[in-house]
Amino acid sequence: MMTLTTGLTTGDHPRGGVDDHCDRCRGPLEEYTMSTFNKDIICMDCEAKELGAPGYEAAKIAEAREAAAGNTNYCGVGLSDADRAYLGLE
Ligand SMILES: [Zn+2]
Repeated sequence: MMTLTTGLTTGDHPRGGVDDHCDRCRGPLEEYTMSTFNKDIICMDCEAKELGAPGYEAAKIAEAREAAAGNTNYCGVGLSDADRAYLGLE
């Protein structure tokens, strides 16, 4: 678990392209992926953590359903309070 020292939150992340920090833990992005829950660009450590989140299965199912329906603007189901707590988010 990385300790945050930058004081930045995901709200400070300028959208408009992938920067070189994870949206979730603010760690450096060497490899990245998009969150299953939302549009966050996250590092592989954060992705691994997401797999165990309470809402992950439902988020994955919803994502597959939207993809099958051809919805390319799907933004994800979002993170529930339980998911945020699990991931250590505010
Ligand atoms: Zn991360």
